[in-house]
Amino acid sequence: MPARAPLDILHSVFGYASFRGQQQAVVEHLAQGGDALVLMPTGGGKSLCYQIPALLRPGTGIVVSPLIALMQDQVDALREAGVAAAYLNSALGADDQREVERRLLAGELDLLYVAPERLLTARFLQLLESIEVALFAIDEAHCVSQWGHDFRPEYRELTVLHERFPQVPRIALTATADPRTREEIVERLALQQARRFLSSFDRPNIRYRVALKHNPRTQLMQFLDGHRGDAGIVYALSRKKVDETAAWLAEAGIEALPYHAGLDAATRAANQQRFLREDGVVMVATVAFGMGIDKPDVRFVAHLDLPRSMEGYYQETGRAGRDGLPAEAWMIYGLADVVTMSQMIAQSESADERKRIERQKLEALLAYAETTRCRRELLLGAFGEDYRGPCGRCDNCVEPPGTWDATVPAQKALSAVYRSGQRFGAGHVIDILRGVDSERMGQLGHDRLSTFGIGADMDERGWRSVFRQLLAAGLLEADAEGYGTLRLTAASREVLRGERRVHLREDARPVRAARRRRDS
Ligand code: ADP
Ligand code: ZN
Repeated sequence: MPARAPLDILHSVFGYASFRGQQQAVVEHLAQGGDALVLMPTGGGKSLCYQIPALLRPGTGIVVSPLIALMQDQVDALREAGVAAAYLNSALGADDQREVERRLLAGELDLLYVAPERLLTARFLQLLESIEVALFAIDEAHCVSQWGHDFRPEYRELTVLHERFPQVPRIALTATADPRTREEIVERLALQQARRFLSSFDRPNIRYRVALKHNPRTQLMQFLDGHRGDAGIVYALSRKKVDETAAWLAEAGIEALPYHAGLDAATRAANQQRFLREDGVVMVATVAFGMGIDKPDVRFVAHLDLPRSMEGYYQETGRAGRDGLPAEAWMIYGLADVVTMSQMIAQSESADERKRIERQKLEALLAYAETTRCRRELLLGAFGEDYRGPCGRCDNCVEPPGTWDATVPAQKALSAVYRSGQRFGAGHVIDILRGVDSERMGQLGHDRLSTFGIGADMDERGWRSVFRQLLAAGLLEADAEGYGTLRLTAASREVLRGERRVHLREDARPVRAARRRRDS
């Protein structure tokens, strides 16, 4: 058989005119026997990076994938294109499994998809030793990382591939890789020698917008008004909120359906099918929804609550606009969300190291939410990309927010937290600052604090914004006990000592001060 060129296969088997981005370089590198680490955003075309080399090289390409549904879709598509592909996972009956194994041993398969726990069995590894392996592809390679959210312990054992089959080229692929995850993949999978193929994670057709939460339903409705008839996803943190929001939207005449892990499997499947098949369905969902969903014309993704991390945000918003047409990522958040997230981390069962990681991730996300810079700069920066805005397609670029020197109000806020013993939540501390004379205030003796009433020049909303931004900036932290108690941090002491100035977004500016500025 004459050696075929990558481009031939791209044309004749897959029916595509040309390679995208780094695909050709990856294919050639692998076809020649090199190892590769491929970072490409979702929809970037990772599959061809190992499918074509598997066809070019003698033997069977073994693809490790953690997602059963995705495996089946891929195998169906490959068979349609005339490729001899199969999968092995727990969804397969005993007879079918035997048949797949027979074909594997007979050398009839070009590609075999296999779940990691299956691959790692002694029996399967032995099977592999008796056949010719074209390459190993490790899909969703970030599952190896504890830093990520999809950690799969079995992924850590995949080094066995390198140990037992040192001559077989390996390719690890992922769409979630901040620099830290990337290094963990390299280390855990022994890919130090692998060539790295990094693609830009920018999704130029997505517009990013983050707003302060004041009246979530009205705000959501206004946002949806700009998306009548569009398919979209609305993410919320809790199942209860998903149900309530979906019901409320449906009542308002919007084709909204709920999706979360608390619904029975049949309802979930039915709602998902409607979202995929019908036009203009709005899925209201927890993060349980979206993995492996391939709907190109999702026109918006809305977040009613903060996601857990920048990777989460990127993944979730990345479900919009896969077709390349304009799409929108919209999020609202407020002080209570920051406190809730902070508490969820503190209360979790995780080890301290894990909590520290979670906290850092939350801080990165809050920095994104609070930034006055181009959002794309921060978003891509989280993936180690040095993007330079303005992008012209995020709220901050379209309408640059003002900032103000809030050092003095920040000092007032921090000293009120300190003087009241770091035992109260934002609500009470704001009352102290504003000098609200209540019975409780008297009982606690807080009306006698030196900070009582020193913030009467700013309204409650202004103070809430200051507290939110202080939390976001790591100048305050919420307690672990779950009462929303605020505490100082090492950084807050710098502010109190006057060694550090604080600049906040305009939305916190005291009403009076703002007016003064305009008059002058
Ligand atoms: P990823 O795994 O990176 O999310 P896929 O491999 O599933 O992406 O590819 C995303 C979509 O792009 C698929 O529909 C695929 O067929 C298509 N695609 C990939 N490469 C090309 C190409 N070179 N030309 C045209 N379409 C492509
Ligand atoms: Zn921008």
